[in-house]
This record gives sequence, structure tokens and C-alpha cells, in this order.
Amino acid sequence: MWIDTHCHLDAHEFGDESAAQAALAKAQGVGMIVIPAVATANFSIVAQLAASVDNACYALGIHPIYVPHAEEDHLRVLREQVAAAMSDPRFVALGEIGLDFFIPMLTESAMREKQVYFFREQLKIARDFDLPVLMHVRRSQDVVLKHVRQIRPNGGIAHAFNGSEQQAKGYIDLGFKLGFGGAMTFTRALQIRRLAAELPLESIVLETDAPDISPSWIHPGRNSPDQIPRIGAVLAELRGLTPEAVAAATSSNARAVLPRLAA
Ligand SMILES: [Zn+2]
Repeated sequence: MWIDTHCHLDAHEFGDESAAQAALAKAQGVGMIVIPAVATANFSIVAQLAASVDNACYALGIHPIYVPHAEEDHLRVLREQVAAAMSDPRFVALGEIGLDFFIPMLTESAMREKQVYFFREQLKIARDFDLPVLMHVRRSQDVVLKHVRQIRPNGGIAHAFNGSEQQAKGYIDLGFKLGFGGAMTFTRALQIRRLAAELPLESIVLETDAPDISPSWIHPGRNSPDQIPRIGAVLAELRGLTPEAVAAATSSNARAVLPRLAA
């Protein structure tokens, strides 16, 4: 059984096919798909989508790209909805949260500060509810690590990991797993492939980030969660393991870092 630890199954790119995509993935052996929220506007959508299929769960959070439109009050809404969702077995994490210092509009100083504020406040919510966090980390590895070290949520996943070996170790020491997906399927992605091959297997989880980060055989087309077994086979090849061994290990890692998923 495979687990897609990061998939925006509610994205408009899937139109009315979201449930069908989950079923397609299930037929390929993807037993669970984690759907992060991106803004208060899609909190109920991801919850309902996860409830409508038998192989999905969800997270609640405000994505850094949505921070420009976020208001202080959205943090109160998030805290309230997290409190309510704690009784929902399909709710597994706080996310997607993080820092994006790549998109120019998000790097202006006022917007950097707003991103950091929303990130820290959400880390505190995660800590208060003892939840893991699903993190978007783009050109911000060390800043994200600094705030996680200060606030100490109960672990989580650095999704679409694209940092150095030292940064990877920083996350691992803080109880985090690293998400690998379509990026490692490109032979020119030397650093990502080297880390995927050499980091401790127990620190790695698989993800699609669908509809984004399509693997080499689809690029630049729409990614989908049924690609996980083929992405996992690339990881297996890089590590000299069987796909079955990689499926078992990465799924066990996902359950370890997302305890509510295991329960
Ligand atoms: Zn995402």
C-alpha cells in the first residue's frame, strides 16, 4: 500500500474528477491521500472531499501563497475549526503552512513579515493541539527551521524537500520527515536524487503535490495521485530496493509522522 502525503485533490484543475482521481489512485494501490487546505475558503471543501472517498484524509491551514489575502481573523477561524476537527478521524495535521521567499510579491519586506507572522501563529496552533505540520518551504529552509526550533510543533513533513543534506538533518532532528515526489524523477535533479538515495529511509515520505510537480513522464501535464507507485519505483531504483520495500517503508514513515492517520 502506498500513501500520497501531499495532494491538492480539491484543486480546480481536477474539475469534478476529484473523487474519480481518488478511486483511480486506489486501484493503483494508493491506500491513502493527504489533502492539505490552503485558505479558510477551502477548509470545508477538503473536509467534505476526504469524507466522500474511502482513501483520503485532510489537513487545515493557511498556505503562504494565500497569506496576502489572509486576515488576522482567519487565525481565529483556523483555531476554532481545528478544535472542532479533532473529533474527525479524517483530520490528520495542520497544513499547508510555511514560508515562500521565491515568489517576488511575497518577498517584499511587509509581506515577508506577514508570512512569518502567519507561519508562527499556525505553528503555535499545531503545538497547542499536538498536531504535526505540513510545510511548504521555498527559498526559506533555514528561516523555517529557526521558527520550528523555537515553537516546536509535534513534527511533520517538509514537503517537496529541496534543501541541502545539512538542512535535511535539521528537519530530521526536529522529528520531521522529508517529502519526495516528481522532482526526483528528473535525471538532472542531481541533488534531490542524491538525497533521496542517501538519506535514512525512515526519514522519507512520498507525495505528488498533484496537480503540480508532475513527474518526468507527464511533465508539464497535470499530475495526479495515481502516479505515486511509479514515483515510488524511481525511489526504489535510486536506493536499490524493491518497490514493495519502498511502499512499506514510506507508508510506515507517513503513519509514524501523522499519528492520527495511523489511528
Ligand atoms: Zn501543497
